[in-house]
Amino acid sequence: MYKNTSMETWRLLDTGARSGAENMALDETFLELKAEEKIPPTFRFLQFSNPTVLVGHHQSVEEEVRLGYCRSQGIEINRRLTGGGALYWGKKELGWEIYISKKDPRIPARIEDLYRRMGEAASLGLRHLGVRAYFRPRNDIEIQGRKISGTGGTELSGAVLFQGTLLVDFDVDEMLRALRIPTEKLQDKEIESVKERVTCLKWETGRTIPIQTIKASLAKGFEEAFGVTLENKPLTIEEDNLLKAKRPYFSSHDYIFKIRGPLPRRKTLSSILKAPGGLIRISIAIDTKTRVINQILITGDFFAYPKRAIFDLESHLKNSKASASQISEIIRSFFADKRPQIPGVKEGHFIQAIEEALQKMSLLSHGFDEEETHHLFPVFKPFQEVRKPEVLLLPYCAKELDCLYRNQQGCEECGRCSVGDAAQMARSFGMDSITIQNYEELESTLGQLKTSGARAFIGSCCEPFYGKHRPDFERIALPGILVDVERSTCYDLGQEKEAFKGRFENQTHLNLPLLKRVLEYSHG
Ligand code: SF4
Ligand code: SF4
Repeated sequence: MYKNTSMETWRLLDTGARSGAENMALDETFLELKAEEKIPPTFRFLQFSNPTVLVGHHQSVEEEVRLGYCRSQGIEINRRLTGGGALYWGKKELGWEIYISKKDPRIPARIEDLYRRMGEAASLGLRHLGVRAYFRPRNDIEIQGRKISGTGGTELSGAVLFQGTLLVDFDVDEMLRALRIPTEKLQDKEIESVKERVTCLKWETGRTIPIQTIKASLAKGFEEAFGVTLENKPLTIEEDNLLKAKRPYFSSHDYIFKIRGPLPRRKTLSSILKAPGGLIRISIAIDTKTRVINQILITGDFFAYPKRAIFDLESHLKNSKASASQISEIIRSFFADKRPQIPGVKEGHFIQAIEEALQKMSLLSHGFDEEETHHLFPVFKPFQEVRKPEVLLLPYCAKELDCLYRNQQGCEECGRCSVGDAAQMARSFGMDSITIQNYEELESTLGQLKTSGARAFIGSCCEPFYGKHRPDFERIALPGILVDVERSTCYDLGQEKEAFKGRFENQTHLNLPLLKRVLEYSHG
């Protein structure tokens, strides 16, 4: 702890709940005045009068925010002065900020040390509320592996602004709806695991702590950590005038949307991989121009010890180049350094799963759209190596329920379901089509194709089937591409045991347009 014999006084300023534009205008006001040494070191508390999304200074609103949703729900959008990622603020969340000279002896020169200093001060304040909060490098505060606060800063002509969020009573579902976090491909229980990455004071304490108590505890933490006394003082007339002058600019479309990021640049790519210890699901938001990973979510039903290892791995991968060599290096050094215990899942599984998601970039350049890539699954080889397939395999569950062929091989192409259309399509590419009645038949068909020297196959099945049987496909080692079926699958309806034996009493539908594009791609 910093010791100072003559206890210095910093200004404590509580600017209450304000709009996003006012809060950002105030940030710039204080930073400029501090740079001119016109204000003392200042510690500010802030809140937002409406739910608000704040993008980082260098981010594009269109790329980070679900604009339509925010507009329909009255969620304000604004841009921070500080860098970093987009944040969702509910009305109950609390922000804290410090404005101080860079030359102040309490301010470490190294950025890592500055983050630590501030993070430890805020953690100390939170511990006064009885929660076990600790700083987590690089810039988070966590409670038992779950993030409760993020921090960041900027500087201007020798003045530093350092700020942090504190989640008090957080609506994590609203955050997932407001921000473009790539959860589209995640199933409910995986979304639950994404939610576990954060926590808030209310969940940790099981009660609503009065906001004044929270502020007092945080202020005390900073006083102790920095060896200063915080003294309540209001906004000065000069600050208020500057705020009024700046508010129109910070409310303007020009400011909020000033970084233009056309949506098509940012794509979400996904993959699933079955490891012995469980299913790994990857969802990556990537800037297709710079090939930088903007966001990555790693979920699945494996067990990781410590649990936060996966969150930490995501942090290491975020903002890295999306190249196979870089991903592999980051993951290998992460495992060597942190040594997480993940039974039945090795670093190679994560590397492969991420590489497979990234391989879908090559599909984008062949005209597949982002949504379509979520419904394509590689078997044994990358997509581009599945060339000139001879056979199209079609699942019995897509046949009409009352079709004579529902429970046996074959199709008369009567025109009543998508199986007949797909069979005609296969013929137009010079391919045979085979309908598959149950799992044993699939395995024996693939085995025979492999033995007879077939190059590759295209097939259709549901994603849960692919996830579960991928190791079987890999064992047979015939390259292929599988296209997701549409409508409720037997897994959705809890009938997978019946389906395994060919007795699933529901009808799925083949995605014929996507199937056609895959046939064109693999024969091109
Ligand atoms: S198209 Fe084929 S599978 Fe579909 S109902 Fe007709 S015969 Fe049966
Ligand atoms: S697992 Fe069920 S829904 Fe999926 S392809 Fe097989 S029968 Fe169809």
